[in-house]
Amino acid sequence: MPRPARSITNRSSLLGLALLLAALLAAAAILASFGMGLLPGQTTSRPTTGAGQGQGAGAAAELDLLIVGGQVLDGTGSAAVRADVGIKGDRIVAVGNLSKSRARRVINAAGMIVAPGFINVHSHTDDGILENRDAWAALRQGITTEIVGQDGRAPSDLAAYGRTLTAGGIGVNLALLAGHGSIRESVMGAATRAPTPPELESMRARVRQAVRDGAFGLSVGLEYVPGKFATAAELESLAGELAPSGGVLAAHLRNEGGALVQAVEEVLSIAAKAGVTLNIAHLKAAGRGNWPVFQGILDRMDAARRSGQTVYADIYPYQAPDYTCRLRLADARAVYRPEDLLIRKAAGTDFAGQTVDQIATKLGTTAQAAIDRILARDPEAVAVGLIISEDNIAAALARPFTVISSDDEAYPVFAAGDARSLSVHPRAHGTFPTVLGRFVRERKTLTLETAVFKMTGLPARMYGVADRGLVQKGCFADLVIFDRDKIAGRATFVAPQLPPDGIVHVIVNGVAVISGGEPVLTADALGRQTGPRAGRVLRKGQ
Ligand SMILES: [Zn+2]
Repeated sequence: MPRPARSITNRSSLLGLALLLAALLAAAAILASFGMGLLPGQTTSRPTTGAGQGQGAGAAAELDLLIVGGQVLDGTGSAAVRADVGIKGDRIVAVGNLSKSRARRVINAAGMIVAPGFINVHSHTDDGILENRDAWAALRQGITTEIVGQDGRAPSDLAAYGRTLTAGGIGVNLALLAGHGSIRESVMGAATRAPTPPELESMRARVRQAVRDGAFGLSVGLEYVPGKFATAAELESLAGELAPSGGVLAAHLRNEGGALVQAVEEVLSIAAKAGVTLNIAHLKAAGRGNWPVFQGILDRMDAARRSGQTVYADIYPYQAPDYTCRLRLADARAVYRPEDLLIRKAAGTDFAGQTVDQIATKLGTTAQAAIDRILARDPEAVAVGLIISEDNIAAALARPFTVISSDDEAYPVFAAGDARSLSVHPRAHGTFPTVLGRFVRERKTLTLETAVFKMTGLPARMYGVADRGLVQKGCFADLVIFDRDKIAGRATFVAPQLPPDGIVHVIVNGVAVISGGEPVLTADALGRQTGPRAGRVLRKGQ
């Protein structure tokens, strides 16, 4: 019989009852360590001990949290191994057989995968984080760190912004980028010309300051104002400021459709001349007519890597970008092919979730007649333009240089009557589980360990996120525990806010934030429900 936990035996009152409770909990822990006691997903929150033979943290140092019996995917791409994970404070202190360790709380992960928390490489959570600090939409899909400040937009003073985030607390770790567009605007206003030498030097100084403030790179939005006015020379010069710290040039391309090939060449050249790591944001060939060039783009990136360039691309696993996910059907019918138009909302019909092509087949009529029927019922029917090939998504995920992004915010869940509840893109709630469910389990595009590597160890390496992205002794305890047989994104264009299946526990900096599949809620000083807000503002090199 293991010794009862110290914190219980120390109590002088109710000693007998406490000893009995401790013995019962210890017995439960023995069963749990064999996967027979607590059901997967259940936890004990009382002091307890493990049982059996073991090594690692040792009996002397009591752990704050012990995850027992799971299959650990360590984030390096290696296959899963059976191991326990011991956490003290915000760090992983032991990985292995920890059955002799004492812990204040035990999570039984029998039958489940224990992986590093996911890193969302292209996130817009900074857009709403000050009003929505808990970031549940990220945490519920297993994301524990997000790279924000994308597409050229970022606060001009990253140090001050970081202090604002930290002061009110944030649910998820945020790693900040400097934003080229924001910097250009602050120096050159709305000018559409090339910068003068003093203007360029002023912009360079701002990038240098952002790097000193811990920026992980520089984002550019070359399709947007004012990024579209930037010359290659300007971008090479500014990106060059990232080279000493190993910062990443995160590029939203000048074009994702008919001029995609040239747009990729442009950023490959800029990054090569600046000598910096390149990440192409949300890589896609938009529009059916452009789908055939996509394999060639992937081959071109492979060739750049073989020639010694460090290049990556992030991918989201959905067939529509944000800008085609809430179209008026009445307008979209002239622009998109019937097989590419998915009905998102059509009041008075049950067509939502089907393509116009499918509806026409069901009605035994033409696509245009089917659209007329839908619009007769609901003139404001909403459609989604499926302009990204799922086969291209799979082809990209199969390449070694791709990582995962949501390209979206960690929204709160909007009430059913709130118009936003129907305009959210499902990627905000389902990106990472969709990769693991749809592309790993169903399509078998990539192995589970490779997919987890793309979500953890690989993005941590590319961005230089220190001590995260791995389940290793000494790393921060950012972890996700999930059921590989159940994990799936449930959010769709019709029901975009559904939380994913299969994410059972999420831990940020040693703090449980999702437990048994549900958010961990506490009351703040005013009695309002709030999350643990265990996230941190990360600074590169620290
Ligand atoms: Zn973008």
